[in-house]
Amino acid sequence: MLEEYEYTEPSRKRVYVLLLLLVLLAGIAIFVAFRTAGLKGVLASPDKQSDANAATVAAASSPPAVQPDGTSRDPDKPPAEAKEPPKPVEEPNEQKPTDPNDPNDKRPLRPAHKHPAFTQRAAERARMVDWQIEGRGIKDPNVLMAMRVVPRHAFIPQTEDRYAYADRPLPIGNDQTISQPYIVAFMTETLRLDPNSIVLEIGTGSGYQAAVCAEICRQVYTIEIVEELAKAATKRLKELGYPNVSVKAGDGYFGWPEHAPFDAIIGTAAAGRIPEPLIQQLKPGGTMILPYSDRDGLQYLLLIAKDQKGNLRKSTVMPVRFVPMTGEVQKPQAESNK
Ligand code: SAH
Repeated sequence: MLEEYEYTEPSRKRVYVLLLLLVLLAGIAIFVAFRTAGLKGVLASPDKQSDANAATVAAASSPPAVQPDGTSRDPDKPPAEAKEPPKPVEEPNEQKPTDPNDPNDKRPLRPAHKHPAFTQRAAERARMVDWQIEGRGIKDPNVLMAMRVVPRHAFIPQTEDRYAYADRPLPIGNDQTISQPYIVAFMTETLRLDPNSIVLEIGTGSGYQAAVCAEICRQVYTIEIVEELAKAATKRLKELGYPNVSVKAGDGYFGWPEHAPFDAIIGTAAAGRIPEPLIQQLKPGGTMILPYSDRDGLQYLLLIAKDQKGNLRKSTVMPVRFVPMTGEVQKPQAESNK
């Protein structure tokens, strides 16, 4: 029994076989290790190879990751890509002026800003934007830019001159008013306009809201039911240099089918129902904002988003006070389309 626990020397043959196996295994392991290391070396791109040194090289010679323009730089990107100009902040006015005589120049006509009004009272406008607009939460840089640029004092009667940048609506004649600057900015922001947008406005009034949109968009179409106001606004916008605003005298209820569909529609007179033609003329993916007046005469801003399938999503945004929308929308209807 004891023998079972005794160390018995294995036969020499078995030892040799074991040793041989070990050597073979070691050989295979070394071979595999070399092969993978070698392949990696072959497959690695020059860029990746240089990555190994990137940390030290970058630390020694490249510019800081945050560029002077505020954009951050990916240190792994080759310099050519890093140098690519950052996407410009949508400041339409930084574009080169459009050449209306060049048939190949398809860029939209931009506001000119040559009129002296643009340089007048700039400090008041800046203060208005700081306190009334940005201070109340408007963030869209295009809207803030437009509100700083458009000379509101050029859109109001002389008698109201000293209130031009005050935090309130002002009379513009014919019993109509120019909206409070904050409301203009707020409504414009909800439309998320960009330099390609085509906008329809119902209720030109003084033309101020149209000018604000025109600073951001490609083209603004605006309709005014009071002929006198439409004429005055057309003249004013022309003198100030807004080639991308077209004014029409008429009932905005019917929209402007010749130029439809629109990326955005803005109504600046309160209606008790949403004019059906305006819904038709809103592009899928587009947004419409208009003051809606309920049966009790309470008004609020109604935001209507049309999705790609044409479905509408309506939401009430804030209580407001606008002059009423007149014309067709006031005619009694058998069935409201709201
Ligand atoms: N957006 C203007 C303020 C507009 S006040 C501005 O920036 O100055 C509302 C305007 O809507 C008034 O001028 C009024 O005459 C006009 N209006 C009322 N009903 C209208 C209708 N059915 N179609 C077009 N304009 C209308």
